[in-house]
Amino acid sequence: MLNPAIRWQPFITELRKELETAQRKHHTLGLILVEIRQFPSLNLLHGFNRVEALVRKVQGRLTDALPKGAPASRLGPDRLAIILPDVTLPELLAVAARKLAARLAEPYRVEGEELLINPCIGIAHSPDHGESAEALMAEADHALASARDMAMPYAIAGKAAEDWLRALHLEQELENALAKDDLLLYYQPQIDLRSGQPCGAEALMRWAHGADNMVTPETFIPVAETTGKIVGLTEWALNTAIRQVIDLDYAATELSISVNVSASSLYDPDLVMTVESGLAIWGLAPGRLTIEITESALMRNPTLCFEHLSRLRALGVRVAIDDFGTGFSSLAYFKTVPADEVKIDQSFIKHMAGDAEDARIVQLIIDLSHTFGLKVVAEGVENGEALARLRELGCDIAQGYHLARPLDYRNYKRWLAEFNPV
Ligand code: C2E
Ligand code: MG
Ligand code: MG
Repeated sequence: MLNPAIRWQPFITELRKELETAQRKHHTLGLILVEIRQFPSLNLLHGFNRVEALVRKVQGRLTDALPKGAPASRLGPDRLAIILPDVTLPELLAVAARKLAARLAEPYRVEGEELLINPCIGIAHSPDHGESAEALMAEADHALASARDMAMPYAIAGKAAEDWLRALHLEQELENALAKDDLLLYYQPQIDLRSGQPCGAEALMRWAHGADNMVTPETFIPVAETTGKIVGLTEWALNTAIRQVIDLDYAATELSISVNVSASSLYDPDLVMTVESGLAIWGLAPGRLTIEITESALMRNPTLCFEHLSRLRALGVRVAIDDFGTGFSSLAYFKTVPADEVKIDQSFIKHMAGDAEDARIVQLIIDLSHTFGLKVVAEGVENGEALARLRELGCDIAQGYHLARPLDYRNYKRWLAEFNPV
């Protein structure tokens, strides 16, 4: 076997150089290690030359799969590494790892034969997991060992093995829930305050766990974000919501549907394609779909978000800024944000009847939004008083328990059929 040290030194030198640059520019640097698990048996079965050709193909695929990275390096007979000098957000590494594992596991054609590998991936990022090349390598290596021990395609440093196991267990349960149709969308109606009629609904994810237990998204969405599973969930939610709104065929009107997209899904470059194909498959007019993204997710990386949101809007899809008022975005953003709608956070709506400050904030958000041509949705409308006040203030759309709770699809349809204008 080759001495791995021979290959490590130039790579460590390269990593040090990239780390220095990343630290100077305050970038997050990602380090991805890939191990080809069944390397010895491949050699036995196919011979050294063919397996060498295979590893070169894996190396090429790794380089191509991460276009923003440096070319993949070979660190040892069964080991490859790649440096990502500027990671937009650490959470994206989980999404990248999942895609990478799937891409590397696709068959390779080598000297007329089809070969498969079972890759194992370990990831660490700087500065969170270490600031020196050695520390980062050790963390990525440790993550790789955890992935190997747990027989998982990848693991990310910084999580204790038990936490990772718990996350992956939940993820497996989610996968089963999807397969068994235990994951569903509830719909919370939205009312147009001018006409008093329903204008659409927000899709909210639920997980049916046992007979009477509906798990709310706050429990499982954060875990799905850390493992990268969220991208699959978002795709499922988009397709389900689009299909079901098409099936509604409500009194020939055109009800809209809002789908929540969390930070790592929004940062994922494939989101626009997922939305585009969902609309095309089900034949929904793009203007009937609204993508909700929280103000705080937007503020974490405005440049990237603005780019992806602009591309969504170019398709004709609407964009809403969710939980507005809690994310400390500057007023200047109002002018440039690629959005059509602002959803005032429910904390302001809930207390506006008794709290003059909150009422003033609500008024301010409504007026400012209208100045910039944005529609305003108030969420968390829990009583008639708040509803009346919102009407007076010129709010466009209302949503909340006073009007309707989130309903399963059947009950949403029934609610629409029995609705009396408010
Ligand atoms: P959100 O997008 O701000 O959704 C509004 C939440 O407020 C929902 O909670 C809804 O049930 C609740 N709500 C609506 N009206 C009232 C009211 O009058 N009073 C009170 N107290 N609450 C009200 P839910 O369904 O538990 O969802 C929580 C959060 O989970 C959502 O906040 C959203 O950020 C996230 N979420 C839900 N579905 C999805 C999804 O499909 N994908 C992603 N990424 N996130 C989702
Ligand atoms: Mg929302
Ligand atoms: Mg909200």
